[in-house]
Amino acid sequence: MKVEIDTHSGFCFGVMDAVQTAEKWLQTHPSLYCLGDIVHNEVEVERLSKLGLKIIRHEQFKELHDTHVLIRAHGEPPETYEIAKKNRIQLIDATCPVVLNLQKKIKEQYLAEKESQILIFGKPGHAEVVGLQGQTDNEAIVITSVEDLQQIDTSRPAYLYAQTTQNLEKYTQIIEKLTEIYKKEGRETDFHYQDTICRRVSNRAEQIKTFAKAYDMILFVSGEKSSNGLYLYQTCLTANPRSHFIFKIDQVDEILFDSNTSIGICGATSTPMWLMEEVKKRVEERMTGTPKNETA
Ligand code: SF4
Repeated sequence: MKVEIDTHSGFCFGVMDAVQTAEKWLQTHPSLYCLGDIVHNEVEVERLSKLGLKIIRHEQFKELHDTHVLIRAHGEPPETYEIAKKNRIQLIDATCPVVLNLQKKIKEQYLAEKESQILIFGKPGHAEVVGLQGQTDNEAIVITSVEDLQQIDTSRPAYLYAQTTQNLEKYTQIIEKLTEIYKKEGRETDFHYQDTICRRVSNRAEQIKTFAKAYDMILFVSGEKSSNGLYLYQTCLTANPRSHFIFKIDQVDEILFDSNTSIGICGATSTPMWLMEEVKKRVEERMTGTPKNETA
């Protein structure tokens, strides 16, 4: 019987810190508000809700006064801090230091050269991207693909940054295309970029590919809302066609395998380790119980 958890899977340090901050607070207080889902994993959000964490949306946040609110790892735009000050809300700020650093870089560049364009390669409306755009009074242009580059004014300098969880390959394509466009116009010195993708995410794709190939079957554990999870699952599936996406433990019972099947369990940067351990336990129970012949 070979059932193993990928040691690189599980929370990144940014998410881990936010979750631990919430847990620590809830040890001595009955409840705590958190602005947005603390992590893109429904099962973990449910666990923390039982401890007293109350997820609120931005509309609800504006109505709060004289209380404490947790800021998750994705960070927030300056407007959130202004509302907190006005409404005497104490923020417990768990913004990931990598995201904070990126916000600072973008703000400094925006203030230093207001006639230039700030470009952000990211998902429109994603919490981190909203926080980054906020550093530029929402003037930054969000790029999702090479096609979006038509909206760039190449007569003005451009500074490109990436949301920390974006795909490195796609970012490289955008950089190459913009370099080509500015070069064609003889203005190559007007295009600047920085690789701001978090290595905790970009290194995962290669690691997970290697991991997925080492087993007969992969159980990929992730929340359905996690874009990092969906991307890593696709990476697993390409490396090992017998990869299954599961978001709750019961789904293990729907997958057919026997005790000779080697199984690797892995997940996204938002997947709690305890959930992968529970999945492993369920797999082992099935293997030592009544084995089924795999037909999947
Ligand atoms: S993926 Fe990287 S930048 Fe994002 S929260 Fe985790 S450690 Fe921070």
